[in-house]
Amino acid sequence: MSKALLIKFSFFISLYFLSSCFQQSSSLESVIDRGELVVLTRVDPTTYMLNKSGPYGFEYELASLFADSLGVNIRFTFAENFQQLLQLTTKQEADFVAAGLSVTPGRKNQLHFTPPYYEVTQQVIYHNRIRRPKSISQLTSPFFEVLAGSSHAENLRKVSTSHPKLSWHEVSDSTVLELVSMVNNHLLDYTIVDSNQFQLIHSQYPNLNIAFDISKPEKIAWAFPLSQDHSLYNEAVRFLAEIKSNGVLKQLQDKHFGYSKQLNYVGICTFRQHAKSRLPKLKGVFQRAADKYKLDWKLLAAVAYQESHWNEHAISPTGVRGIMMLTKATAKQMNVTDRLDPEQSIKGGARYLSTRIKKIPKRITEPDKTWMALASYNIGFGHLEDARILTQQEGKDPDKWVDVKQHLPLLAEKEWYKKTKHGYARGKEPVTYVENVRLYYNMLNQLESNRIKGKQNLPSSYPALNKNLPAL
Ligand code: GLU
Repeated sequence: MSKALLIKFSFFISLYFLSSCFQQSSSLESVIDRGELVVLTRVDPTTYMLNKSGPYGFEYELASLFADSLGVNIRFTFAENFQQLLQLTTKQEADFVAAGLSVTPGRKNQLHFTPPYYEVTQQVIYHNRIRRPKSISQLTSPFFEVLAGSSHAENLRKVSTSHPKLSWHEVSDSTVLELVSMVNNHLLDYTIVDSNQFQLIHSQYPNLNIAFDISKPEKIAWAFPLSQDHSLYNEAVRFLAEIKSNGVLKQLQDKHFGYSKQLNYVGICTFRQHAKSRLPKLKGVFQRAADKYKLDWKLLAAVAYQESHWNEHAISPTGVRGIMMLTKATAKQMNVTDRLDPEQSIKGGARYLSTRIKKIPKRITEPDKTWMALASYNIGFGHLEDARILTQQEGKDPDKWVDVKQHLPLLAEKEWYKKTKHGYARGKEPVTYVENVRLYYNMLNQLESNRIKGKQNLPSSYPALNKNLPAL
């Protein structure tokens, strides 16, 4: 090789190595290298919220599990406004959007959606002081607003092609929660919310109702920026498939959205009323009893509400009585001499609940352990065990409340209960019981965190709007 050729050759070799050094790493490699997954979200009860023990919410937990599966940390960033969630590109800091985004035809050209992890419907919300609109053709009020850029606005545009009289306004410097609050304050007649969102906020807005579903079920998914590089996206798809098949996703859905949807206007108002009139004088008793048995006083108070609506004189025809509605036998076991004495009843109930919790096998983790203990408080440990055995026989997980609650109602059917040790039981009751206690517990948590923080300190949905969330 001539000298000139040799120089040329070594020049190209070094160029090759140099360029490979500067080759861009894939989206997955850069997450691993930086040791951190950056997720764009928005503050909402369905996505990400903060309370005194830190962040919580469905998207927060789901994305955190994904980061764990990659072995990296997680950091959340918050969109300045709703539109920004839809404008994610590879040039930005965030790796993907986890914000309860609906997969819509319009968004598919903008973002790369993963397979969905749950479904919602869009619901028209109105105040119960006005006449309920019965169909789309009745949505002609000038005070019908939805969030610009939302799937709700996109759906209305589609629906309006067959309903030319339909009229609405789209607002961009707002949030769906603020629109809901405006309907509550009679500043709007209607707005649209996702069904899971309304489920979570209905107890704070007992005067609002669902008029009807205005969309078919809509898929909710994570959104990645459009790119040729699918390495991180593929990992997310793999992760979502895995948690779908091992039941973790179902559990997460149950944890965040699985409690009672049944409470109506009267139920919510009555609870709030009782929280003002009856709870204050019992709160100290709940707290002391809960401390003694290492329980959360709000859980104990929620059980008491389910049992007696915090009425110390409650008596049922079946002979149970008092705030915790103890049977004669349980009261005796718990050394309760007067079931109508609130102090004794609450202490007895707390002690009994703590014995139920201790009876649940240690390997069962929270919150499943507490839900199962509550079911056994209601129906008895033996029947709960029967339901768990049926759950296992059916190939489901007897240590997971989501699976056990599907099998408890079978205890009322002969072909099932004849196979069990303890026989017939009204197995639907503990399911409703647990769901109601969870709902009351959530409402108490909300009331308590409002009391502690004051509504001004709640985080804003979008930092740029710098407005507060409506009263929760
Ligand atoms: N699922 C709705 C959407 O993707 C959420 C809108 C919202 O609550 O802000 O547009």
